[in-house]
Amino acid sequence: MPTISRRASSLGTENAFVVLAEVNALARQGRDIISFCIGQPDFPAPDNVQEAAIRAIKGGKHGYTPSAGIDELREAAARYLAGMRGGLPIRAEDVVVGAGAKPFIAYAILSTTDYGSGDEVIYPNPGFPIYESQILANGAKPVPIHLHESRNFSFDPAELERLITPKTRLLILNYPHNPTGGLLSKRELEAIAAVLQKHPQVWVYADEIYSRLAYTGEFFSIAQVPGMYERTIISDGASKTWAMTGWRIGFTANPVLAPVFTRWITNTDSCASQISQWAAVEAINGPQAAAAAMKDSFLERRDFIVGLLNQVPGVKCQVPGGAFYVWPNVTEACRLIGAADSEEFRKRLLNEAGVALLADIHFGTRVPGEGQHVRFSYAASKEQIEKGVARMGEFIRKNTKKAA
Ligand code: PMP
Repeated sequence: MPTISRRASSLGTENAFVVLAEVNALARQGRDIISFCIGQPDFPAPDNVQEAAIRAIKGGKHGYTPSAGIDELREAAARYLAGMRGGLPIRAEDVVVGAGAKPFIAYAILSTTDYGSGDEVIYPNPGFPIYESQILANGAKPVPIHLHESRNFSFDPAELERLITPKTRLLILNYPHNPTGGLLSKRELEAIAAVLQKHPQVWVYADEIYSRLAYTGEFFSIAQVPGMYERTIISDGASKTWAMTGWRIGFTANPVLAPVFTRWITNTDSCASQISQWAAVEAINGPQAAAAAMKDSFLERRDFIVGLLNQVPGVKCQVPGGAFYVWPNVTEACRLIGAADSEEFRKRLLNEAGVALLADIHFGTRVPGEGQHVRFSYAASKEQIEKGVARMGEFIRKNTKKAA
């Protein structure tokens, strides 16, 4: 029998998809499950975007495009990315369009590290699981940097300094952050940049896919810190801002790496869907009322779910600065119901109370001394949020009595 490569066998995954399979299996048995697992807006793409896609289809825009994307989208994205980031000098030729922002995680690692040579990549823990998976699959060394609840889920720049070695090639940042909803403030990004100034061999991958869902003040990118623009890969896209996850459009900017990313795309996808590219041009250049309304709605739901969660016994939830996730601390709730950890808590909550969440271990290794956490995506209706959190409260109360 031919064998499967070690590389493929060791590939990680997004456990959201694994839990989703559990949820679907229970739903097929007729169980009523309220799910907070899905990391995508619960809106359709705006009407003007849908119309633009239909016009593209009817207008015969069916063929391949250049690997870097159509000029119209590269120009629109360059203007858009720069406009949100203090007028950075981003040109259309610095922007590459991909089938979502996700592929650029791999392209960035592939373009800055060499397989098996001990090159190191520092990435946030907890964090989007694809970072670690792609670092390993591409033969680099994963170096997690721990995020701390006491710092609103940012990290200590002194810790970054300790983790950087002559082999460090890439630092992955993500703000607003999946899974904690945490932000990195301008001051924190300046402190990180000050550390990086001493280590010019390190690239930065700024995963800014949630940039339009930052709730406190104006969005700020590390690329705006003097000296950081050339070495920062800015990654953003259409998925979260215009509720276009299935359309698969991401755009990434870096003046040096743009031609390199383009070559990767020629070697993999050829190009992103032309239809989706025209839709993304409209998403960027057209009216922004739908995107603004979605943001307002997420903000309202953030405050709603945080308020409810903090009334649940044994649960403490900070107010996150962005995205559509909350990351409550459930250490005490685990103790109350006699669950060994957040994963046992999650499984029991799903099976006994019909509420689906993700646990901290789905986003990396638990940070020592930080306790147990779970992730809610609050891209769910207010009714679902109210009902789901109420079920969680009842579940904890009922099982606390049993344990007593
Ligand atoms: N980065 C982060 C942090 C994400 O949460 C996601 C989507 N869940 C992505 C990248 C990928 O987004 P896209 O749909 O554009 O590929």
